[in-house]
Amino acid sequence: MKVTESVLDAIGDTPLIKLRAASQATGCAIYGKAEFMNPGGSVKDRAALAIIRDAEASGALKPGGTIVEGTAGNTGIGLALVANALGYRTVIVIPDTQSDEKKSMLRLQGAELIEVPAVPYSNPDNYVKYSGRLAEELAAKGQNAIWANQFDNVANLRGHEETTGPEIYDQLGGRIDGFICAAGTGGTLAGVGRALKARKPDVKIGLADPMGASLYSYYKTGELKSSGSSITEGIGQGRITANVALAPVDFAYQITDEEALPILFDLAAREGLLLGGSSAINIAGAIRLARELGPGKTIVTILCDSGARYASKLYNPAFLREKGLPLPAWLA
Ligand code: PMP
Repeated sequence: MKVTESVLDAIGDTPLIKLRAASQATGCAIYGKAEFMNPGGSVKDRAALAIIRDAEASGALKPGGTIVEGTAGNTGIGLALVANALGYRTVIVIPDTQSDEKKSMLRLQGAELIEVPAVPYSNPDNYVKYSGRLAEELAAKGQNAIWANQFDNVANLRGHEETTGPEIYDQLGGRIDGFICAAGTGGTLAGVGRALKARKPDVKIGLADPMGASLYSYYKTGELKSSGSSITEGIGQGRITANVALAPVDFAYQITDEEALPILFDLAAREGLLLGGSSAINIAGAIRLARELGPGKTIVTILCDSGARYASKLYNPAFLREKGLPLPAWLA
């Protein structure tokens, strides 16, 4: 194991874990990139580090400056840890629907937390727009405040293009046929997709879209349309963000919670992997892509964060019953 000078060097270089049941069911080798093992506990540590390093390099972020962001939680946790390590302040705007576990983690890290009602992007009070406005207001008052703007800041995808993607390729010695994940900002999908296509042009890239998101319909018909909803957090995009726009997508699948959650509960009980809801959508997507490409292929997806972050929701029998979602025997 490596020895690092700071927590920042401990971001990335995560293991690839073979997903046994998913591999057996498809005759493929399906691997999950264990992003829950990052110091902040999610795939978003990488984007946070890349965005902050980019803002330092451009001169926008100065010593002691403030980073403002609208986030479902994980990006905020990543930004707060990188900011703490480098002497910056963070102000995080989060929709009030996100899990209490993520909010208390943000408070523990000393981020200033602003909870706002969850309203669509078209509403000016949407958390993303709110955070952009707040950064402008602080800057207008003479503070050195930047807006991380993870959705439309392509430093996000570059972080994955320079680290996550090359790591996956190298870990498998280039023996990879497909990669698939869901999109929040689209940074992971675009960054990993681009890195893999650059190294191996015939690698197939898939999007796993939860219900309530619009990208599946966009890739199928050219129109952004959504239906239904999902209890997953951090994913499900309704517009073509700057990061999504650069994703080289070959296949798109729409995944319901009913399809994804049993896979998640099974992984916890039988493979020792307790994961968050977006990982479930990703793994269900990997199984669809494996069936599309046929047996013998090697497919990779992302294990975005830990189930511990959703103990009060995804792994709470009362919550699942209320939503009419499948409840595993071991949890009941
Ligand atoms: N899973 C979780 C749990 C997340 O928090 C996020 C980011 N919001 C994602 C997946 C999606 O990652 P990306 O923003 O790179 O599309």
